[in-house]
Parts: sequence; structure tokens; C-alpha cells
Amino acid sequence: MPIYEYFCENCKKKQEFLQEIDEDPINECPLCKSKNIKKMVSVSSFKLKGSGWYETDFKNPPSKKNNNSAKTKD
Ligand SMILES: [Zn+2]
Repeated sequence: MPIYEYFCENCKKKQEFLQEIDEDPINECPLCKSKNIKKMVSVSSFKLKGSGWYETDFKNPPSKKNNNSAKTKD
């Protein structure tokens, strides 16, 4: 069950509620009974969408260092 963060603008307090995903959002502050409570989008449970492909997905073959290539004899 995810934890949702709400911020009451009336009592200026952040509160956390355990809610089902399909449960109705809290619309009344349990402390002051104000309707000025807003759901906060917490970073931990919200992933950025649409970032798409990164160039790092291309796999570069490991470059071989050949240290013996440039040895010359007199
Ligand atoms: Zn409140």
C-alpha cells in the first residue's frame, strides 16, 4: 500500500496517509478539518516519463590497447 503525502495549507503541516491506489484522495485535513489540503507528488513514488532512449544504450566495443605494436629494433 503506497504512502501519499499531503500538505495542509491551513495548518501548514505535511501528513502521510496510507491509501489504496484506487482510493479517493484525502480532501479534508484530519487535524483542522480544512479543505485546503493538497496531495503532494513525492519523488520516491513518481518516476519521470518519456525520457526515451539514451545514447549510452549503444554498446561500444572495448578498445584494445596494443602495447607491443610500436616496438622497433635498431
Ligand atoms: Zn490542517
